[in-house]
Parts: sequence; structure tokens; C-alpha cells
Amino acid sequence: MALPLDLEALERVVTGCRACPRLVAWREEVGRTKRAAFRDQDYWARPVPGFGDPDALLFVVGLAPAAHGGNRTGRIFTGDRSGDWLFASLHRTGWASQPTSTHRGDGLRLLGCYVSAAVKCAPPANRPTPAERDNCLPYLVRELELVAPRTVVALGGFAWDASLRAHAGLTGTRVSPKPRFGHGSEVPLGAWTLIGCYHPSQQNTFTGKLTEDMLDAVFERARAAAGRRLTRSATRR
Ligand code: SF4
Repeated sequence: MALPLDLEALERVVTGCRACPRLVAWREEVGRTKRAAFRDQDYWARPVPGFGDPDALLFVVGLAPAAHGGNRTGRIFTGDRSGDWLFASLHRTGWASQPTSTHRGDGLRLLGCYVSAAVKCAPPANRPTPAERDNCLPYLVRELELVAPRTVVALGGFAWDASLRAHAGLTGTRVSPKPRFGHGSEVPLGAWTLIGCYHPSQQNTFTGKLTEDMLDAVFERARAAAGRRLTRSATRR
């Protein structure tokens, strides 16, 4: 299927997608059964597209919406603990207008930043299958093509691999040998610099594997990398 050439139209296509039967069943089941704390809320229970500045310098890629976060609120990283960490850091480093992201319409604006995920539907146990990952990749490819960022920050190894696959999908070339994911890994990839960052999941933040300072340092470095690319392209003109 040919995907639209503007983000709004792409969002409509994504939110209507039912290509992965297991994920469609799971996201809707979670939306019906709900978590007790949210039993009075209507869950979104659909695919969650990316959101933010359509001309962003920085593109952040996560794994997938959380069952009771993005799958509930309809906005990626919104209403869950990982999002609390992510948006607080984006705010401290100047990429977001406020430190919290609680629901659509909460006033949050991303400043030169766009946030999305490799897979747009909440997967059971946060583990999409390879087929589900591949089904969803064209949406990420088109988002990256339309936003055309200077820096991509991949939150976790799954997002790192998806970003490399998306780059291959966009350019028709695979980077070889495949760059290894690590916190702070940085790879120049044609139009963007790819930076790896531990995912701000509770598994990492509770254990101290990822601290606020480490997360802030990645987003500060992302700004420096984007600035270097802007300077270089201005010099070439
Ligand atoms: S994961 Fe992606 S491809 Fe699969 S149903 Fe959701 S939006 Fe569609």
C-alpha cells in the first residue's frame, strides 16, 4: 500500500491499521479489561502514531506504546512511567514545553522534537514478533522521511535495530557491519546521526542503570549532533 506524503494523512492510516491480528486483539482486550486505577477512562485501544514538531531536528524512537500508557491515552509515552522520565528530560534539555505528559490536550508541545515508536500497537509483554515489527516498519520509515530529522535517538536495542532497518528502507543501503547498540553509541547515517540510549523503563530507572543525568546527556548530545549537521549543510550551500 502506498503511504501518504503528509503526517496528518499518515496518522489517519496508522490509527486505522489492523494488519497484526495478535496485536489488534491484545490492544482491544486491554482497552476492555483496563487497569483498576483507570477503570473510569475510555482507552484509546488503537495504534498510536508519532507526535511532535513536523520539522523536528530530533526524532526519538521507542519500542511500542505501553498497554496502560499510550494504548490508554492515544499518545506515545503518555500516561506511563517511561514517559514521565522521557518528557521530564526533554523538558530539562529544551526539547519539550513542559515536563509532564498526561493526556492528549494537556498542552505539551515538543520543540524541534518528534517522538514515535518502532511498533505502533501495544504488544503483550512488550515483545512484538519479527512479523509484527516488519509489518509496522513502513510507518516508521515514512515518518522519518517526512520529518527528515538531523538526529535520531533510539531508546533501547529494539528501537536501535528498527532505526537501522528504517534507514536501510529509506536509502536502500544497509550499514555493514551492523553497529552495536549501547548507551551513548553514535553512528553517522547519511542524513542523520543515530544515538543509542537505554530505554527509560522502570527496569532501567529503578535499578540505576539509567539516571536522569545520563538521559539528559543524550539529549544534549543530540542537540550538538543536530547543530553540527546544520552547520555542515549551511557550509555546503
Ligand atoms: S503494529 Fe503496526 S502494522 Fe501492526 S496493527 Fe499495529 S499499526 Fe498496524
